[in-house]
Amino acid sequence: MARETFQMSRLANGEAENSLHKQSDQTPHQALNGRCTKLGSDGSTAGPCCDENGGEVSHVICKKKARQQQKEMTFQDMYNNQGLFDENDDEDSDWEPAQEHVEVVKWFCNNCTMVNLDDVIHCDICGEHKESGILKHGFFASPFSQDVGPAEIELEIKERNKDLGSQISTSNSSTAIGFDERMLLHSEVEMKTHPHPERPDRLQAIAASLATAGIFPGKCYPIPAREITKEELQMVHSLEHIETVELTGQILYSYFTPDTYANQHSAHAARLAAGLCADLAKEVFSGRAKNGFALVRPPGHHAGVRQAMGFCLHNNAAVAALAAQVAGAKKILIVDWDVHHGNGTQEIFEQNKSVLYISLHRHEGGKFYPGTGAAHEFGTMGAEGYCVNIPWSRGGVGDNDYIFAFQHVVLPIASDFAPDFTIISAGFDAARGDPLGCCDVTPAGYAQMTHMLNILSGGKLLVILEGGYNLRSISSSATAVIKVLLGESPGCNPENFLPSKAGVQTVLEVLKIQMNFWPALGSKYSDLQSQWGMYCMKTKKKQIKKRRRAAAPLWWKWGQKSFLYHLLNGHLHVKSKGC
Ligand SMILES: [Zn+2]
Ligand SMILES: [Zn+2]
Ligand SMILES: [Zn+2]
Repeated sequence: MARETFQMSRLANGEAENSLHKQSDQTPHQALNGRCTKLGSDGSTAGPCCDENGGEVSHVICKKKARQQQKEMTFQDMYNNQGLFDENDDEDSDWEPAQEHVEVVKWFCNNCTMVNLDDVIHCDICGEHKESGILKHGFFASPFSQDVGPAEIELEIKERNKDLGSQISTSNSSTAIGFDERMLLHSEVEMKTHPHPERPDRLQAIAASLATAGIFPGKCYPIPAREITKEELQMVHSLEHIETVELTGQILYSYFTPDTYANQHSAHAARLAAGLCADLAKEVFSGRAKNGFALVRPPGHHAGVRQAMGFCLHNNAAVAALAAQVAGAKKILIVDWDVHHGNGTQEIFEQNKSVLYISLHRHEGGKFYPGTGAAHEFGTMGAEGYCVNIPWSRGGVGDNDYIFAFQHVVLPIASDFAPDFTIISAGFDAARGDPLGCCDVTPAGYAQMTHMLNILSGGKLLVILEGGYNLRSISSSATAVIKVLLGESPGCNPENFLPSKAGVQTVLEVLKIQMNFWPALGSKYSDLQSQWGMYCMKTKKKQIKKRRRAAAPLWWKWGQKSFLYHLLNGHLHVKSKGC
C-alpha cells in the first residue's frame, strides 16, 4: 500500500519520463553473458564501482538510497502494478509486455519518438506532423506537413539569415567539426515496444540543419575521423570495460543495461566518437582551430571507469580532457549541461584537482536518473570543490534558472579556477520539447551559456554532444551553439532573466557548500541570501498573476499526461509507422 502511494505521488509529480532509464546492478560482463554465453568469460566481475573510491559514508548511503529509488522508475515497475512483471526475474532486458487482443494502431513520432494514436496527424507531445521531413531538412523542415519543397525552405533560410546578418560581429572558418557517418551504424537491433530515443537520426537531423544553414559544410571545417587507441582509452577506462565493449562487435546485438544497447557497429562507433573528441581537443588546445564541436554518438557522460550505462559506452569528454592534458593543458573545465547528471565523468575526475567538473541537472532528491549529483557530492581525496553539482529540484527548468546559475555559480568558480581548456558536455535534453528531460531551455539560452563560457580559457572551447532526443530541439539548439562558436552574438540579454524561486533555492544550496572551497563565493552567498527576502516579496505578486494563466508551458503538462496515457496503454498491440 505504501509502495502504491509512492508510485501514485511520483506519477502525479510527472516523473514518468524517468522510466526509460533503468539503473542496472549488472556489470557489463554479466549483461553480456546473459545475452550471449557463446562468447564466454572468465567470470570475474568487478561489480558496480561508483562507490569504491568514495570516502564519505553519508555520500555512499545517499547513492545507495538513490539506487534503490531508481529501481522504482522503470517501465517494468509501471507494469508491476498491473501484475505483469515477475520481480524475481533479474534478466529482464528482453522483457516485453503481455499482448492483449485489442489492436490499436499507433505511430511513433519521427521527431520525439513518442507514440501517437493513428487518428491524429500531429504528435501530441511535440506537434510534429506524422510524416515530418525533419530527417531530411533538420529544424528547417516544417512541423506541419511534409509537403514543403526545397524552394520554400530556401526562402525561409534567406529570411532567417537576413535577421541574423545584423547580429554577426565576427566570422571566420576556424570552428572544427568532428563527424563521421559510421557513427550512424550504431543502432538498436531488437524491436522493442518503443523506438530507442538515442538513435542515428539525432546526428542526421543536426547535420541536416547545419548543412541547410550553410554552416557545415560551409563555415566550419571537418577534422579527419580516427579511432581511439586502447592505450588512450586506458587513461580513462578499465581494461575490462574496454574489452567488454570490444566484444560487442562480434555479436549481432547485446545490452550493457536494459537501456544501453550495442550492435556489431557500436564498438567501432564508440572508438570513432572518442577519437574525434581527442583530436578536436588537440586541434583546439594547440590553436589550430579556434574552437570545436563534436557531433558524435554514442554519448559518453554516464560511462564510468568500469561500466557502460545510460546509452553511453566510452566517456568522450573524459577522453578529450586527457588528450588536452597530453597536449599540455594544465587545468581543464568540464561544464555538463545535459539534463542528467554525468555520473561517469564525476567518477573519473572526483579525485582530480586538474579537472573541474560542473554539472547542472535535474536531481529531485535522487529520484531523477541516474540519481547521483547531489550538491554535497563535491569531490574527494584532496580534490574537494573540484566537483560542483547544481541539482534542480523539479522539471520545467528554463533559460532563466540556467543563466542565473551560470552567473552565480558556474562563472565565479570557473573564473577562480582559470582553466586553460574548456569542454562542454552538451546534452540538449534540457531543451524545450525534450521527451525525457521535460525542461524548458531554448536555443537562445544555449547560445547565451556558450557565450558565457567562451570568455574562459581564451576561447579554447570544445563542445561535445551528449543526450537530447527531440530532433527539432537538438537541431536548433546545436545550430545556435555553433553560431556562437563562429562568432555570432547570442542575441539575448541575460539581465532580463528572473530566476524561479526553486532555482534560487538550488543556487543558494550550492553556494553554501562550495563557498567552503571557493572563498570568493562567500560574499555572493550572503548578498544573495539578503536579496532573497526582497526577491520573494517582489515576485509574489507577479507569480500569483502568472499562476492564473499557466504554471508550466502547456505542452509540458499535456506531454506528461499523454506520455503517461500511452505508457500505461503500451501493452496494447503497437503498429509502428515511425522510423
Ligand atoms: Zn513528437
Ligand atoms: Zn549535467
Ligand atoms: Zn541526458
